[in-house]
Amino acid sequence: MKTAAEYIQSLRERTLRLWIDGERVDDPVDHPKIRPAVNAIAATYALAHKDETRELATVHSDLIGARVNRFCGLFREPVDLVKKLEFQRVLGRLTGTCFQRCVGLDGINALFIATWQKPGHDRFVRWLTEVQREDLTLNGCMTDPKGDRSKRPVEQPEHYLRVVERRDDGIVIKGAKLHQTGAANAHRILVMPGQALREGEEDFAVACAVDVGADGVSMVLGRQPSDGRRGGPDAGNARFGGQECVVLFDDVFVPNDHVFFDGDLEAAATLVDAFAGFHRSSYGGCKPGNLDVLTGAADLVTRIHNVRRAPHIRDKLVEMAHLTETIYGLGRGACSKCTRHDAGIWQVDRVLANVTKHHVTKLPYEIVRLAEDLAGGSLSTLPSIADLDHPELGEQLRTVAYSRERAQALRLIESLTYGAGSVPFRIECMHGAGSPQAQRIVLERNIDWDSKVSRARVLAGLDADTELPEVP
Ligand code: SF4
Ligand code: FE
Repeated sequence: MKTAAEYIQSLRERTLRLWIDGERVDDPVDHPKIRPAVNAIAATYALAHKDETRELATVHSDLIGARVNRFCGLFREPVDLVKKLEFQRVLGRLTGTCFQRCVGLDGINALFIATWQKPGHDRFVRWLTEVQREDLTLNGCMTDPKGDRSKRPVEQPEHYLRVVERRDDGIVIKGAKLHQTGAANAHRILVMPGQALREGEEDFAVACAVDVGADGVSMVLGRQPSDGRRGGPDAGNARFGGQECVVLFDDVFVPNDHVFFDGDLEAAATLVDAFAGFHRSSYGGCKPGNLDVLTGAADLVTRIHNVRRAPHIRDKLVEMAHLTETIYGLGRGACSKCTRHDAGIWQVDRVLANVTKHHVTKLPYEIVRLAEDLAGGSLSTLPSIADLDHPELGEQLRTVAYSRERAQALRLIESLTYGAGSVPFRIECMHGAGSPQAQRIVLERNIDWDSKVSRARVLAGLDADTELPEVP
């Protein structure tokens, strides 16, 4: 398994076509807008080599007969789902941001299921074996631009990634994927369809692996609020950050070995369904970890202000923690109430996974509100740290208004609530792994409404009790 330093070095060995603010950046690793996100992924490698976290950060792989980083592993046992969540919470708390490897992890497990007993399964397993041996970071690429939402992919193919040519030795794909978490920090792209598809839409039902440096692949870094502060004292989060890119595919050739399915509508539907479950429960791990940091920063400010013991302050902090644990508890529940797929992969409970993610679209917003309440107005009016450090001005400013400790705590809250850190935290809470309505649709389809009605009918005295006739 790679160390953090080996991971960072391996990024330098790629050829990437990455654009940042209108400029091509060939070696992005030290770029101030990229490095914090590289550091966050590097943490996933570092924990695999620490005695205290090795058990959590790694898992045995039956494919290579050795332990691999948990982000490259399959959910072979129920405990693997729980440990994934625990690992995500630890990383979310250590970095205070998104560590970008979970779409790849949830994607390989969903793809293992979707290709099961299909022609592409062996190809997929061969590729995954290489990913595990080389300890690679994957960019799970799912979300199509979608254009006019009232139209199907066949009516506007340019808004969906699709197969444009089939050759004897492979396929050619074209299109784009949006919101690609960690794309510029990855080694491989795992292309997957973003939605279930209908007959006639076979060209969009494609899953394959592409090198990040493949001919025709370009990436464009997304902007974040206050991203110009990255790498400087006002960044808020001094070390870590998240990353999203637009990934463009302009006639990218994919050799047959790396095509896991092409034109298989059933596999596409299975993949999307399995992935949604895995990834929606993932938010029950990483987001509570991020919320631990936000709660900690708010708590810190109240200590600096010397109001920590005031009853209303304590009550707000308890509320923040209680809402955080609610999300985590739901994620744990989704992982614990799991079932085994015939492919030998354990799947989370679909209903609880969607309830987890649905709460993630709401509760963090209340926690953010409480953090802003506790922080006070200086959160939004604070001068720069450079002013605090200024030889003429600094002492006076620090005496009357802001200690450096207070300023840095406020900057962290600012970053998480509406700065660069809010993109991988707060906005991801809303839209990552599907926007709120997507979860309500799954819930409506998967809840056994008739069973509820039938029990209500019995207890209302309308029907005989066939389930519990022994009790008079
Ligand atoms: Fe992982 Fe959370 Fe980032 Fe998604 S948002 S990749 S689950 S850390
Ligand atoms: Fe995400």
